[in-house]
Parts: sequence; structure tokens; C-alpha cells
Amino acid sequence: MEALIKQAATDLADAKTVVALTGAGISTESGIPPFRGKGGLWERMDPMEVAHIDAFMRDPAKVWNILVKEMKGIVDKALPNDAHKGLVKLEKMGKLSTVITQNVDGLHQLAGNTDVIEFHGNFAWQRCMECNRYYETRKVDISRIPPRCECNGILRPNAVFFGEIIPPDALGRSQQAARDCDLMLVIGTSAEVQPAALMPVIAKKSGAKVIEINMERTHLTDDVSEYLIVGKAGQVLTGIIAQMEKAR
Ligand code: NAD
Ligand code: ZN
Repeated sequence: MEALIKQAATDLADAKTVVALTGAGISTESGIPPFRGKGGLWERMDPMEVAHIDAFMRDPAKVWNILVKEMKGIVDKALPNDAHKGLVKLEKMGKLSTVITQNVDGLHQLAGNTDVIEFHGNFAWQRCMECNRYYETRKVDISRIPPRCECNGILRPNAVFFGEIIPPDALGRSQQAARDCDLMLVIGTSAEVQPAALMPVIAKKSGAKVIEINMERTHLTDDVSEYLIVGKAGQVLTGIIAQMEKAR
């Protein structure tokens, strides 16, 4: 791990435009469980039952009960960890231009990154399925499930369910960022959800170096990534930045 941390510090120092693609793994050290991998939600639940738009349309109350139990409290209380803070430092060093995140927890913005593309929307807002009015999640009355709008329409998270399209603006800007960067950091994503997992492929095809940080191998590891640094995102990024600061 030490040698690869040094290598990453050198690669980042040489790079002009760095983009990060992040997944649930970057927020586990903030106390938010991932979907896949150890301790992930899918060990206990079927994604098609709780995270698919058809499941929500069929029974919004059932999905809302799970969201409130599994996500809301955690997301409301979570704070950025060393990995989020490391990406802010990389932006301040003039290296990192954009964070493409699959997360819905808002922690990159809270940490201070300025260009964050929310590939799967966010959980900070809810919107009415009837009149499209938006409500801040922390102000929504969840004593009544499913929560409702003033117009009595059912509220849904402003996040992308399985079976829904990626917001076109987020998709277009992500593809552009992937084409324009010369180094992509892929952090804490299983790279199993499409089309998010295509962004490192686009980056590589456009000539960028792809560096993965994850606790385990993914199917990007062999063919797409230059190398994988195995470890916790917070620890690894702290190590890389310390190296970069030492070398300055
Ligand atoms: P995932 O749950 O499929 O995979 C998580 C990955 O992170 C795994 O590969 C795991 O090995 C790795 N990981 C776990 N802890 C880590 C750590 N400390 N450091 C580095 N790597 C670590 O996540 P995904 O690829 O983002 O896909 C799941 C989808 O679920 C996303 O699209 C997202 O919308 C949603 N989701 C979001 C949150 C959140 O907002 N925090 C949480 C759960 C799921
Ligand atoms: Zn409404």
C-alpha cells in the first residue's frame, strides 16, 4: 500500500485535470452503510423490492418505511470524513476539478467541493409526484407515511431509483468531465451500477489514467484501472495528500 500511495502522489502531481468518481464506500467512514459488500443493505434486502421505481409506485408506504429506518436518520446526522476532506484539499491544490458522485448524501458539498455532479440525485430534497413542488427532507413530516405535499400528492426522494433514467444534465456533464480529465480517481464504488461505471471506461479511452481506491477488487481493476490501492478511502487519501505536501 505504501508504494502505491507514493505512486498516486506522483501521478496526481503530474496530472493537470483530475476528476473523482465516488460511490457509497467513500461515506462508510461517515457511518452510512453501502448497498453492496460487507454490511451492505443488499445482504438483508432485495434491491428490486426497495430501490426500484416499480416497487415505489406499487407501495410507496412500504418503501418509505424502509427509507426512514435505513437512510434518513443516518444521512441527516452524517458528517464528511477524511476522504471527503481529502478531495477538498485536492481541489484547493488546483488539481481536482469535478467530483462525480453516485451518493445521495450531500457530503461532498458539505465538505466544500465546489463542482459536484450528483449522478443519482440526492436525498436532501423530496418532490411531490403530483405538482412537482420540492421540500427539504429534514423539514418533511415523517410521522405520516408516506409523507405528503400540501396538495396531498405523495412525496418521493429526489434520488434516482433503479429503473429510472439518469438526469440528462448530470449524465452529459459527467461524460464531458470523464473525457476531459487526464487522471480519474475511482473511490469506494463497486462499479456495478450502470451507466455510472462507464465513466472510468470513457476516461481511459480518452487517454486518462484511472486509479482505484477500494477495500476490494472490482471488475474495473484488471482492464480499466492502472492500479488499485486497497484500503479505507479516508486513510488512503490522507496518506496520498501527506506525500504530496511533503514533495512540494
Ligand atoms: P456499492 O454499495 O455498490 O459499493 C460500495 C463499494 O465501496 C464496495 O466496492 C466496497 O468494497 C467499497 N468500500 C466500502 N467501504 C469502503 C471504504 N471505507 N473505503 C473504500 N472503499 C470502500 O456502492 P456504489 O458503487 O456507490 O453503488 C450503490 C448505489 O447506491 C449508488 O449508486 C448510490 O446511489 C447508492 N447509495 C448511496 C449511499 C450514500 O449516499 N452514501 C449509500 C448506499 C447506497
Ligand atoms: Zn403537490
